[in-house]
Amino acid sequence: MPIFFECQRCTACCRWPGQVRVSGAEITRLAAFKNLCEHEFIQQFTRLRADRQGLALKEQADGACIFLEGENCAVQPVKPQQCREFPNLWNFPGFEKTCHAIPREVSDAEYQRRIATMKLAGHTGAIPP
Ligand code: SF4
Ligand code: SF4
Repeated sequence: MPIFFECQRCTACCRWPGQVRVSGAEITRLAAFKNLCEHEFIQQFTRLRADRQGLALKEQADGACIFLEGENCAVQPVKPQQCREFPNLWNFPGFEKTCHAIPREVSDAEYQRRIATMKLAGHTGAIPP
């Protein structure tokens, strides 16, 4: 049976070092959500990626994502796919030591449904369950 990790929204992954990549489509959604034009959004909230191959979200002084507000993501309904997909579609060895997502054994059909919902939410801006 596949394992699906249920995010507990502890925000640990919004605080650790790294970069949140944002695509052109994601910038369009995020800018609309913030009531900004894309140019303003890019200026205020993004920076060049380390490999200079695209944009990533800026960080706060302590390294947390620019959109982390207290214990909440300020752009939760339209957060980037990279955020949605962790830790089910990408993670790293030992991530469970910090991530509080709860592993649930689910049927193949349920796993596929949850993954599809997660991906669809990223494309439509809908809030995933
Ligand atoms: S966009 Fe939201 S979910 Fe993604 S790292 Fe930033 S605060 Fe966390
Ligand atoms: S994915 Fe893990 S680390 Fe990130 S908010 Fe959810 S439970 Fe916390």
